[in-house]
Amino acid sequence: PAPALASPSPASQEPSAKPAVFIPVDRAPEVQEARLRLPILSEEQVIMEAVSENPTVIVCGETGSGKTTQVPQFLYEAGYSSSDGLIGITEPRRVAAVAMSQRVAKEMNLSQRVVSYQIRYEGNVTKDTKVKFMTDGVLLREIQKDFLLSRYKVVIIDEAHERSVYTDILIGLLSRIVSLRAKKQQPLKLLIMSATLRVEDFTQNSRLFSVPPPVVKVDARQFPVTVHFNKRTPLQDYSGECFRKVCKIHRMLPPGGILVFLTGQAEVHSLCRRLRRAFPCHRGRTEEKEDSVEEMRKFKKSRSKKAPAALPRIDLDNYSALPMDEGDEDRESEMDEEDDALGSDLDLDLGDEENEEGEKPDASLPLHVLPLYSLLAPEKQAQVFRPPPEGRRLCVVATNVAETSLTIPGIKYVVDCGKVKKRFYDRVTGVSSFRVTWVSQASADQRAGRAGRTEPGHCYRLYSSAVYSDFEKFSPPEITRRPVEDLVLQMKALNIEKVINFPFPSPPPLEALVSAEELLIALGALREPPQTGRVKQLQGAKLSCPISPLGKIMAAFPVAPRYAKMLALSQQHECLPYVITIVAAMTIRELFEDFDRPAASEEEQAQLKGKKARVSQMQRLWAGQGPSLKLGDMMVLLGAVGACEFSGCTPHFCDTNGLRYKAMMEVRRLRGQLTTAVTSLGSHTPGLFVDPKMKPPTEGQVTFLRRVVLAGLGDHVARRIRGEELLDGKWKNGYKTPLLDDPVFIHPSSVLFRELPDFVVYQEIVETTKMYMRGVSAVEAEWIPALLPSYCHFEKPLEEPPPAYWPESGRVVCHRASTFSVPPHARRYKHF
Ligand code: ADP
Ligand code: MG
Repeated sequence: PAPALASPSPASQEPSAKPAVFIPVDRAPEVQEARLRLPILSEEQVIMEAVSENPTVIVCGETGSGKTTQVPQFLYEAGYSSSDGLIGITEPRRVAAVAMSQRVAKEMNLSQRVVSYQIRYEGNVTKDTKVKFMTDGVLLREIQKDFLLSRYKVVIIDEAHERSVYTDILIGLLSRIVSLRAKKQQPLKLLIMSATLRVEDFTQNSRLFSVPPPVVKVDARQFPVTVHFNKRTPLQDYSGECFRKVCKIHRMLPPGGILVFLTGQAEVHSLCRRLRRAFPCHRGRTEEKEDSVEEMRKFKKSRSKKAPAALPRIDLDNYSALPMDEGDEDRESEMDEEDDALGSDLDLDLGDEENEEGEKPDASLPLHVLPLYSLLAPEKQAQVFRPPPEGRRLCVVATNVAETSLTIPGIKYVVDCGKVKKRFYDRVTGVSSFRVTWVSQASADQRAGRAGRTEPGHCYRLYSSAVYSDFEKFSPPEITRRPVEDLVLQMKALNIEKVINFPFPSPPPLEALVSAEELLIALGALREPPQTGRVKQLQGAKLSCPISPLGKIMAAFPVAPRYAKMLALSQQHECLPYVITIVAAMTIRELFEDFDRPAASEEEQAQLKGKKARVSQMQRLWAGQGPSLKLGDMMVLLGAVGACEFSGCTPHFCDTNGLRYKAMMEVRRLRGQLTTAVTSLGSHTPGLFVDPKMKPPTEGQVTFLRRVVLAGLGDHVARRIRGEELLDGKWKNGYKTPLLDDPVFIHPSSVLFRELPDFVVYQEIVETTKMYMRGVSAVEAEWIPALLPSYCHFEKPLEEPPPAYWPESGRVVCHRASTFSVPPHARRYKHF
């Protein structure tokens, strides 16, 4: 069991822990020279003294000052990783974890066996690893396995200014772990690194650190950046405005790299294409061609390959090193729009000489255009760090990754569209949507700062100064604006029962904690508190429910609690492979291409329309008829994944069927991972084998799958509106949900769009012109009280028991509906 969260001990108790050994590093002369130019080098001694004298230290320094690449090296040289110790660095983004481990290994002239990384699906950590870069979700998972993080001598939380949910939780947990380790005379050092000086949430928070940690400030050599605002703010076409701005800079201004900030991957690619056409590089075009020829070759090769024999094998022993990384997923989808796997790279339109706005391509001014976003292949990401070919100007078109995670050398001009793509949640309804919104002033300033790394620069903001002054100063920490049920479950699994007392750097709103706890109770992951009259109705009283055995099982699955519940029910009626597939496909968002995206030309529009019709026909085929159709969009997911595996999961198959190739590869990996996770729990099912190429489920299995889907998505039930409620047809085809007053509708892309079953569950509601349910499956009304006893119940006892959850010790446990009553908060469910 995890130790109780005591208050941190004062710094004076810290045993003097300066390692005596100095580990020499043999760096190449040019590396050493480049390092010496980084501002952080002059602070090495100050940082190392602070670290040696304090349990926790905060390092603030501008992006590019050398924090991520140099601080781990300082610690390594000072011997913090000697005698089996480990230096851990967490990054909120996978890109950064991989790229930085490679960079640091190279600078230190060490192999990636020693300076390694671990992200959700992959890593190269060995027993010789001394410096380990990882995503924050990875470290959180390790804390569950070993609360004291005994192998680590130092943990560095990087990019703390981003305030990602996992970063915040880690800082809260580590504040306690550090003091527990100090008591055991095995000190752990905690470094928090931030690109801004806004660290009061960490320093001025006595629940977090009773003695405020020292802040070491690194003065970056920042050159002046002249900021140019647009007179007017373009309303819609900021991408076109970016294009015009880059053209002007490239034609009229002195040499120096250009960095453009856009919001998503599709935008990035489309601007890259426009720029390449406007300023073709002779060699570049060949390179592009070679690029695409190479892709084509791979594509053809993969087409001719036989289907793989089994799911990618995942080492059971290694599973512990493949932690839950939900945050990763969220992070990336938040930072980057989902990408089309093939579209972008193959669809370069090489022969097309047509140009924007009637301009002639200008080959006398070649521009070296490179895209940069989270999901870009690492080799392509690395290109931005290389100097551009002789005689060409570098132009990087990036999403938010270039704001603080990666510093691109040689940038003199920044073009900032002022927007960012963010996921928004409605706390009450759980309705989520991606929206492009204005950035904060802090972000805009960070972006501008990228122009002054090597010489004085210019930042062109595509919005007016009046708009800028309306931006919020800082964006609020993520934890205050997203649902937290996954975090609450993870904390409960760490035996932190009173989540409300957790030392959050910024606590989530009370309602978010309450609704998380309610959902977890409904899913059976927490033990409901005994009913003690009025006390129970007090909101706070609910916030200390202990985890249930089912909850422990759920916490072990690297997916959100709703999906974890489905997995916990999965090993019946030989449905395991199906449940795993459905969960994997639902977790990886946007399996299908978005055919409603705005097209660049009428021709493209027509193409999209044709493809959309073809794909929806395919989807209906996958959904089947009769009983199988009732599983609805989950059946489509099963059909799509099954058919794709049958065809060998080729880019070609994906492309013709409107599936995103990269998403399908992720599904495949996640299926492998989940299979390992589930089978390693059920020790009573040795050698369980999951065939990637599933047979279609039988009728009985489909019915079971519908119940499993309901058990997981049970709070997402909707009932068809009939009779008087229709308000004279105004709410025709509408559905009523327990929590929303307005009706919701089945999304037109759903295979159940025309079926209109009486009761459905949905994966999510997205709000566009109406509130639409996406990922819809039909359920039977009488299953609802059986599977969600804390929401509503039968008047009479059930005849058939609901499916039992994964038996922990081979014992089948049934929830008997009749033993539950309706808690006050769920009254609305009774009448709904
Ligand atoms: P910080 O973490 O303070 O933002 P970094 O340590 O990431 O700074 O970067 C320090 C310097 O190292 C920057 O000038 C950056 O351009 C350079 N750098 C980082 N990664 C690479 C790389 N892969 N190749 C070349 N230079 C790099
Ligand atoms: Mg950094």
